[in-house]
Amino acid sequence: MYENDPQARELRLLRPAWAEIDRGAIGANLAVARSLVRDGVKIYFVCKGDGFGFGAATVARLAADAGVDGFCVGSPEEGAAIRAAGIDREVLLFASTLPEDAARVASLGLTVTIQSMESLHAFMSAGIAVDAFVEIDPGFGRFGFLPSQWMDAFRALAAQSVVRLKGIYTHLSSPGDETVTGSQAGVFDAALADASTAGFDDVTTMLASSRVMIAHPDLSYRAVDPGRLLYGALDRGWMERVPLRSMLRAVRARIIHVQQHPAGSMLGIGYSAPIRLERAMRVGVVPIGFGDGLNHVPPLGRVLVNGVQAQVMGRRSLLHTVIDLTDLPDVGVGSVVTLVGEDGKEQITIDELADTLKLPVMELLPRLVRSLPQV
Ligand SMILES: *Cc1c(COP(=O)(O)O)cnc(C)c1O
Repeated sequence: MYENDPQARELRLLRPAWAEIDRGAIGANLAVARSLVRDGVKIYFVCKGDGFGFGAATVARLAADAGVDGFCVGSPEEGAAIRAAGIDREVLLFASTLPEDAARVASLGLTVTIQSMESLHAFMSAGIAVDAFVEIDPGFGRFGFLPSQWMDAFRALAAQSVVRLKGIYTHLSSPGDETVTGSQAGVFDAALADASTAGFDDVTTMLASSRVMIAHPDLSYRAVDPGRLLYGALDRGWMERVPLRSMLRAVRARIIHVQQHPAGSMLGIGYSAPIRLERAMRVGVVPIGFGDGLNHVPPLGRVLVNGVQAQVMGRRSLLHTVIDLTDLPDVGVGSVVTLVGEDGKEQITIDELADTLKLPVMELLPRLVRSLPQV
């Protein structure tokens, strides 16, 4: 939110904690995505969750410059931010709004999602011409028409001209499972056959998010909708299958305070149960806390300073992390602490941190980049 205001950004960095971003990653990963699909398949970049925390307009601009075909967003606000950034490529709004707001949503210049008869009727009665994609539920159990429902929707769409059907898409629940994926893709194929019967045989068809693209390149239809693949933010097992570049390069902060505690001191660091020090201890305070997307309760893992590791102590507070510097006499106020990334010959990967904190990468990564200034 401060990224476009240099003064506000500088002020923010006076509290020295930040995320280091690789602005070339999206372009490089888009080239990998192109290599996974047939020529002519369109790539719609999923920028939901404010572009996975990197900023929807920021990542959309990088992807547009790298030649992406369109975008998917998770809220009207993200769609508006992409339009405000001067990007005029197609933006598909995933289901996120109420039927009663159909007229306002239809006026945003986005392609809307029809995920139920109720949403279809809302957009038809709003009376504002709008492009739409129909969403099919292949067994995900969230949005979309079931096999018993979609024919009514295709017939209703064919009988009017307010809502213009431009595409049909679905989202699979278990890309790592061959059998489930095969049967869910079969549900989608059945929906496409019925759409064709109703007269919709020349629309954009889309099923493959990141992991489907990697595991099932045959399921690319006319378009694909990857998100995490383009940020290089998949779990390790998936990252190893394709040469992706992580957009998050590092999370770092600088030590703002150092204290020597004599042997015998009682320390209740971060509201944790007080411990009695057997020997003298030197601690450093890093200005990054659970308010920055990390967590409060141990295990909190390790950090790197001057290329060696230091342990996190006690509980992490809202704005601070305390680390053990007893064996690191050269480290002091101003030393750079690495929570994710390389430091000398050592490295902490986002997977290591996520494993330590018992969070999936897809949950931890956007939390961190959303709350920290990006440099
Ligand atoms: C989130 C989402 C995607 C993108 O998923 P990734 O795993 O990030 O590629 C694609 N389609 C739909 C409908 C989604 O909700």
